[in-house]
Amino acid sequence: MIADTILSPTLSDQPLDILHGVFGYPAFRGPQQAIVEHVTGGGDALVLMPTGGGKSLCYQIPAIARQRAGRGFTLVISPLIALMHDQVGALHEAGVSAAFLNSTLTSEEASDVERRLMRGDITLLYAAPERVTSPRFLALLDSIHERGLLGLFAIDEAHCVSQWGHDFRPEYRGLTVLHERFASVPRIALTATADDLTRADILERLQLEDAQAFVSSFDRPNIRYTIVEKRDSTQQLLRFIAREHAGDAGIVYCQSRRKVEDIAQTLVEAGIDALPYHAGLDSKLRQTHQDRFLREEGVVMVATIAFGMGIDKPDVRFVAHLDMPKNIEGYYQETGRAGRDGLPAYAWMGYGLQDVVNQRRMIDESPAAEEFKQGLRGKLDALLGLAEATDCRRVRLLAYFGETLAGGQFPAGPPQGELTPSGGSEPHAVGSVGVKYNCNNCDNCLNPPDIWDGTDAARKLLSTIYRVQQTSGMHFGAGHLMDVVRGKVTEKVTQHDHTTLSTFGIGADFSEIQLRGVLRQLIALGAVAVDAQSFNTLHLTDKSRAVLRGEVAVQLRESVSTPAERKSRSKSGAGPAAIKAPIALDGAALERYAALKAWRAEVAREHNLPAYVIFHDATLAAIAKRAPQSLEDLQGISGMGAKKLEAYADAVLGVMAQGE
Ligand code: ADP
Ligand code: ZN
Repeated sequence: MIADTILSPTLSDQPLDILHGVFGYPAFRGPQQAIVEHVTGGGDALVLMPTGGGKSLCYQIPAIARQRAGRGFTLVISPLIALMHDQVGALHEAGVSAAFLNSTLTSEEASDVERRLMRGDITLLYAAPERVTSPRFLALLDSIHERGLLGLFAIDEAHCVSQWGHDFRPEYRGLTVLHERFASVPRIALTATADDLTRADILERLQLEDAQAFVSSFDRPNIRYTIVEKRDSTQQLLRFIAREHAGDAGIVYCQSRRKVEDIAQTLVEAGIDALPYHAGLDSKLRQTHQDRFLREEGVVMVATIAFGMGIDKPDVRFVAHLDMPKNIEGYYQETGRAGRDGLPAYAWMGYGLQDVVNQRRMIDESPAAEEFKQGLRGKLDALLGLAEATDCRRVRLLAYFGETLAGGQFPAGPPQGELTPSGGSEPHAVGSVGVKYNCNNCDNCLNPPDIWDGTDAARKLLSTIYRVQQTSGMHFGAGHLMDVVRGKVTEKVTQHDHTTLSTFGIGADFSEIQLRGVLRQLIALGAVAVDAQSFNTLHLTDKSRAVLRGEVAVQLRESVSTPAERKSRSKSGAGPAAIKAPIALDGAALERYAALKAWRAEVAREHNLPAYVIFHDATLAAIAKRAPQSLEDLQGISGMGAKKLEAYADAVLGVMAQGE
């Protein structure tokens, strides 16, 4: 009864036919089509696209097209052995012949893959750079190439070649051998790291100077950016999860292993299905946690930055930072792991004075050359500027990557995406930008913060630092100095006789929270330095004078409860068990959606694959909404490729019938 035309996957080598037939998607996204056509035609490409932009199809479709045109297989170089199984599994589900070669295979299995390659039976082969550049593997490629079956090299996570990022993999540098040895085979390199420095490194290190560069917009409109002032950060996080994301999958980033353990424990005690992940855990346990995160629904991973690269789980609903990352690249890459499916997702960060102090200290204490440290400070400053901003976060983020949002302009001299010594550049216009662009999906646009002028408070703080040092010959930390400004008589204040200072109590009107905010900004501006070698004492700098003279305005957001704390999406207090669908569904449809999810979970378990590899939530929701009665009804649902239709149509229709 099933019509042939529906079921036999078209063997067309045209990119659009492959997009429809194999992947079941109605249209290319953004620059995908141009990239796919360029690479299918044999051109080299460098693809810069944000996480979730759809990079995989940029090489998978050319791979299928070239294979179908008799031009051979595609070698995908990926640094992530732990994820190859699922990547290949996803292609199998779509009916594409794929395999991987890595250390998890027995030697028989590996030989079998090699034989299939020689026969031309494999369309995509995944391998790590160490393997690819080994003499044995290169010899294998030689003989495949002689048969004209070497079609394309795809270098995924290409930023691993650059030592600027935290994902540096020296083996990536050896990949130039591919070009030297197989000059006629086209190459496509892909990454979500966009700064100029990394990009230049990729082009040079991989000898891709002549490749066409495809640079996408880095905007992720479905992600809501929120940066809140830290008070009791663990409680803030718990409230954020309870109110916005009960039962959702998410990632919580912390700086240290210790903190990862503590927070994971706290979340578990609060009834959240949380797991820790950091480089100090046994590798087996790490893998188990990663598998649970990928395969089960609603798991929250509490992790250091060791976690995340290549994680292609599409339904991560939130990414929370409990500590500030080092720079905007890191922040953007980590937050980018939310909402790859294009559905609403949240990027939440708690940020405070201690973060500024810690990050500065880490740079100061690192053994790197001073020039390098200057570069790092410049990058940190840009992130501090983002955190302190009172205008659209999205405008700021994109400006960092050299992008201007349509309709909004960023004032001259946006933070640079390259390493500029912070000493040489003007301080970023922290929190004082008069741009009115409303993205409607960041905290500052949704709830414009009240701004107060902290210039006077800043001057009082700086004078106090100066006076205290002058009279006592000693330096003090933030707490003591704020006490003096506020005229608080503590033991330490009397002990050092700071009650007789001319500045004692000159800022009695300010709350401690306000002064903290001012201090944070002064440190961010470089107008106050923190001496990590001596108990985090505060010092004046060359830049203090301009603030003291009133030449630099210090504008701050009023410390109020944050939008995330004020508003709540789910009013029902939905617990982890409640079903949430990605589109509006009525009661009966919601039941069908739940039934489809249960069915999908079973299939995923049988196939030992994450559920989203079988069908995305969005596809299941579209099915539930349509309530299909026949095969024809199932056609045209996004994500329903020919192979999946063939494999699952009967079962899906069965689930629909049961619900009637
Ligand atoms: P990236 O590697 O750039 O982070 P992926 O290749 O994983 O992104 O794609 C992100 C998600 O978007 C995937 O779930 C993918 O199936 C989906 N996707 C990619 N291209 C399209 C498209 N043209 N239409 C619909 N969905 C797409
Ligand atoms: Zn905004």
